[in-house]
Amino acid sequence: MRVHPRRLFCNVAGDFYATGENPTPDEPRSRRMGDCLTCHGPESQAQELLAELTNDNRTTYFVRQPETELETERACKAVQYCCVDALRYAGQNADIISRLGNNPAHCDYLIGRDGRLVYCLEENGELLPWAAEIRNAIGMGIDVPPVPDV
Ligand code: SF4
Repeated sequence: MRVHPRRLFCNVAGDFYATGENPTPDEPRSRRMGDCLTCHGPESQAQELLAELTNDNRTTYFVRQPETELETERACKAVQYCCVDALRYAGQNADIISRLGNNPAHCDYLIGRDGRLVYCLEENGELLPWAAEIRNAIGMGIDVPPVPDV
C-alpha cells in the first residue's frame, strides 16, 4: 500500500487514516498535530474508530479500522464530515471508493475506465492536477472529467 507522506504516525495501520504534521523523532508529540482537530464532528460519526479528543489529544485520527459494513459506513461518514479533507481512504475496495463518491478529496485511488484503479496523489501528498480538477468539479457540481489512463 502506498503511504500518504502526511499520514499521521498515530493512525492505526490500515486503509482509513488522517493526515497532519508528524513530529520529527526528536520533537515531543504535539497536542495539535493533525489537520483535523477538535470540533468532534468526525468523532460523532465514528466514535468507536477515532481517538477520543481530550486535553492531551486534540487530533482526529483512526485508532481502529472498520470491521463490519456498519463500521465502514461510519468511517465513510467521518471521512466525508471532515471539512478539510484530512480523513482519507487509501484502500482499493471499489465499493468503498464508490461510496466515497470516487472523489480524490477522500480517496487515494480512484476508479478509472474499465474499473481500473488509478493512484491520484503526488509524491508530496498533493492531488495530481487531473485529480484536483475532478475534486473541484465534484465540489462545484459541474461535469466531472474522466479519470485518465496514467
Ligand atoms: S471537521 Fe473541520 S472543523 Fe471539525 S475539526 Fe475537522 S477540520 Fe476542524
